[in-house]
Amino acid sequence: MKVLIAASECIPYAKTGGLADVIGALLRALRSLDVDARVIMPLYRGIKTRFGPKPTGDTVSIPLGNKVYQGNLFALNDEALFVECPEFFDRKELYGTALGEFEDNAFRYVFFSRAVLSFCSLLQYRPDIVHANDWQAALVPLYMKTLYSKAFGNIPSLFTIHNLGYQGIYPASSMTLTGLPQDFFSPRLLEFYGLVNFMKAGIISADAVTTVSPRYASETLMPEYGFGLEGVLAEKGKAYKGILNGVDYSSWNPSDDALLQATYDRNSLQGKQLCKMSLVEQCGFSNPEAPVIGMVGRLAAQKGIDLFMEAAPELFSNGLNAVILGRGDTVIQDDLKRLAREFPGQFSLNLKFNEEFAHLIYAGSDMLMMPSRYEPCGLSQLIAMRYGTVPVARATGGLVDTVDDYDHLKKKGSGFLFTGFHPSAFVECMKRALSVYTSKRQWTLLVKECMGKDYSWENSASEYLNMYQKLVQSENK
Ligand code: ADP
Repeated sequence: MKVLIAASECIPYAKTGGLADVIGALLRALRSLDVDARVIMPLYRGIKTRFGPKPTGDTVSIPLGNKVYQGNLFALNDEALFVECPEFFDRKELYGTALGEFEDNAFRYVFFSRAVLSFCSLLQYRPDIVHANDWQAALVPLYMKTLYSKAFGNIPSLFTIHNLGYQGIYPASSMTLTGLPQDFFSPRLLEFYGLVNFMKAGIISADAVTTVSPRYASETLMPEYGFGLEGVLAEKGKAYKGILNGVDYSSWNPSDDALLQATYDRNSLQGKQLCKMSLVEQCGFSNPEAPVIGMVGRLAAQKGIDLFMEAAPELFSNGLNAVILGRGDTVIQDDLKRLAREFPGQFSLNLKFNEEFAHLIYAGSDMLMMPSRYEPCGLSQLIAMRYGTVPVARATGGLVDTVDDYDHLKKKGSGFLFTGFHPSAFVECMKRALSVYTSKRQWTLLVKECMGKDYSWENSASEYLNMYQKLVQSENK
């Protein structure tokens, strides 16, 4: 089976968050199941020099409004295709800066979505299914049924929502960029309260829609989590479901992690202690014995960092050390900087994107916090568990599907969950975690329980493959 995956990021080529991990791992897992899967993504700055994709010599011209833009195709190892257009993609960042998203993002991803299908037509490459991801590629399923229906009209499409909080919403005037007739600006397609909504078009046009955990799939049918698209998702009926993400254990494996000072596994945890010492030293914590809670992630409202900040004084008075690695919203960054000045020696703030330090935090921390407002799946908690770092998380989305709340009577679980989005709920949950932490024996059992969990990609990839097969079969009926 030939599968074309269209996405705006994919490890190892470019990454801002979980989407890149998921696309890269899915691609590899499908290929190991003998599926002829390829990813197509923009050629961002640095990809050419770091990975050396070769130009295929193919060029397409895409009209956007009253200008025509040229795209060149690059390919790497039969598995990755890159769309080059320096004007749009040769930038330091993928989507924007700390001050906000790039003003021409609608141009950039309309261009990308059309280029995907233009190149396939030009190359006469006919996949059995097209799998489009998130708002940046959401117009692909719509274009397959409209401007590119000659070549793609009877090829099924799957659209995956990795985060409903980012829909690609632009002014009504962006309709002219799409090249689609003005009557597509209707609530049944692209219109969303007087604006253009890329993700809505993807959901409506795709033959099936998935999101990244079963729990998030049911949550997004409710107004609280649906960001206005709950009705559109409900209309998909059985064609909308959740497939849980996995973790690529070849990149995230504490017993074979070249980025760590010491490796370890479930049966010998000394290496974890050495990683903690190294983390404590790098963070400058004044009490090296204190429990350490870490966080690695985008600094966005979604992640509930405000809850941590409100809870922080009480957490620090309980003797906790905390380390955050992340980049994002300037207001959150500034608030965190103030907190770091207030609690030197207990709070380490690292405003950067750094793969190596992320590995050290996952390995060297005792706990990982995820007080998220909402969380489609969450990869951080899955990675943390593999490294024996116990999640303390809000019971939402994929966190509910992947973390078993610790039962203090049965002494069983794989983390600590709280429900209400209040600092007091978070503090109470932390206190529960700390009460177990004081018993070295119980804590070690909990650490081992976490490390034994299997969230590998094999299961998720077979679910995607089933979905592809069903869609292809129903198209051929
Ligand atoms: P999201 O997709 O919402 O960003 P996830 O938890 O699903 O959140 O995935 C985040 C991924 O990005 C994880 O692999 C995490 O380790 C990584 N990550 C996020 N921020 C950073 C950072 N500043 N430095 C290194 N890795 C990061």
